[in-house]
Amino acid sequence: MYECTCILVCLYTMNAIDQLNRTLIACERCPRLVAYRQRIAREKRRAYRDEDYWGRPVPSVGDPRARVLMVGLAPGAHGANRTGRLFTGDGSGDFLTPALYRAGFANQPTSTHLGDGLKLKDLYIVAIAHCAPPDNKPTPQEIANCRPYLVQHLRLLKRVRVILALGKIAFEGVLAALAESGIDLPTPRPAFAHGAEYCVGRYTLIASYHPSRQNTQTGRLTEAMFDEVFERMRRRVREE
Ligand code: SF4
Repeated sequence: MYECTCILVCLYTMNAIDQLNRTLIACERCPRLVAYRQRIAREKRRAYRDEDYWGRPVPSVGDPRARVLMVGLAPGAHGANRTGRLFTGDGSGDFLTPALYRAGFANQPTSTHLGDGLKLKDLYIVAIAHCAPPDNKPTPQEIANCRPYLVQHLRLLKRVRVILALGKIAFEGVLAALAESGIDLPTPRPAFAHGAEYCVGRYTLIASYHPSRQNTQTGRLTEAMFDEVFERMRRRVREE
């Protein structure tokens, strides 16, 4: 009977997230981002000129029964905006996916294109803005436009206990979404620092530098630093 209920809850969550992603993929709330994602998809980068770019909002992805929610910034113009899957086909994904694999959150260490066989385990990925922004910088208004999707993901992903925010913008966006969800934020207000950890409502919120090339190629974020964050997430979900 218990197993039956779990399966029904899981199916309900999958359907609800599927519906949410269908709405998200058709979203046109941010005129600047709509124009940018479409222009990039038309013009393409020379190396990918024979590929069809996704060129739309990139949906959330992962295990609907996940206990860990990872929140990124936004799709890369020639990464997820090309491939249609977050952290797929660019430098950030090339750094992140092996780390997920080492920590047991992914079944393989590569993430190159839809249909490459990647499966996430106990982890779900969303973004602060689901459309690629110029210079990887969504405006405050664009972040606010996209926040309802994050709030709805938080509501639907009922098993999530640990939230990993990748970068300061994601960290602030998560705090805003939690506050909008009716959760009281701790006082003093949590501040972003790599490795910082806070209890916010029923969640453990962990901050990490974003695995952008800018951070990984300068040594600001190393594999060892990233592994330590993922190992901590593992410990926190085990402690639940
Ligand atoms: S960033 Fe979010 S709110 Fe803005 S158009 Fe894309 S999906 Fe819609």
